[in-house]
Amino acid sequence: MSTPSLLSAEGLTKAYGKTPALRGVGIDVRPGEFVAVTGASGSGKSTLLHCLAGIARPDEGTVTYAGEPLHRFDEERLSELRRTEFGVVFQFGQLIPELSALDNVALPLLLAGRPRAAAQAEADAWLERFGVRGQRELRPGAMSGGQTQRVALARALVTEPKVVFADEPTGALDSLATEQVLASLVHATRETHTAVVLVTHEAQVAAYADREVRLLDGTTRDASAAPVTPTEATR
Ligand code: ADP
Ligand code: MG
Repeated sequence: MSTPSLLSAEGLTKAYGKTPALRGVGIDVRPGEFVAVTGASGSGKSTLLHCLAGIARPDEGTVTYAGEPLHRFDEERLSELRRTEFGVVFQFGQLIPELSALDNVALPLLLAGRPRAAAQAEADAWLERFGVRGQRELRPGAMSGGQTQRVALARALVTEPKVVFADEPTGALDSLATEQVLASLVHATRETHTAVVLVTHEAQVAAYADREVRLLDGTTRDASAAPVTPTEATR
């Protein structure tokens, strides 16, 4: 029996002017599943992630979240969805430099109207899960790259989204910090049954996922499918 997908896309295409970024991409993400999107630089990974997260609209094709096509959402409902159901982390965590780690993580809850004490208690629990509670008073500039990304993940998860989208979240980290960040991410999202869509070009990172979806020049290929032949790759 197969679980219905939480997030799926079919036939996505998108071009930037004359540059095609996606040329027919499909993907399926089930609740709680960790999917790695891999592929060379320029293969369309970030564009796909942005389309799935409702940050960008595809030219053609459909992204469906919890049974409803995203193109039916107006901007207001889309931003509501992004705030409540989705969490996003990029290569550089985009933490607010003036705020402590604790306040960065508490912020989404404060914006959602949660009282400060409750928001901070939740934020503390998430910092603890990611092993950075000891850094709670530090501003991003005073933390290591790995600590910063763990705080960014804590901030993405504090609202308990159904899906976390991460674009090369460990791209700027050494391999030890990468392992630590990914191990915390896997542990935390298993516990909360949060799905993860993680973009990476590194095999070490993709190895943490339940499944890998490979992009080649803007098209998807299942990594478990037959290897791509040179003629196919250059077509
Ligand atoms: P990846 O994340 O796998 O490196 P991207 O989705 O960033 O791939 O890019 C896919 C293709 O689209 C590349 O050819 C890239 O140069 C192009 N592209 C991406 N973003 C833009 C943009 N904002 N303007 C023009 N071209 C872009
Ligand atoms: Mg990219």
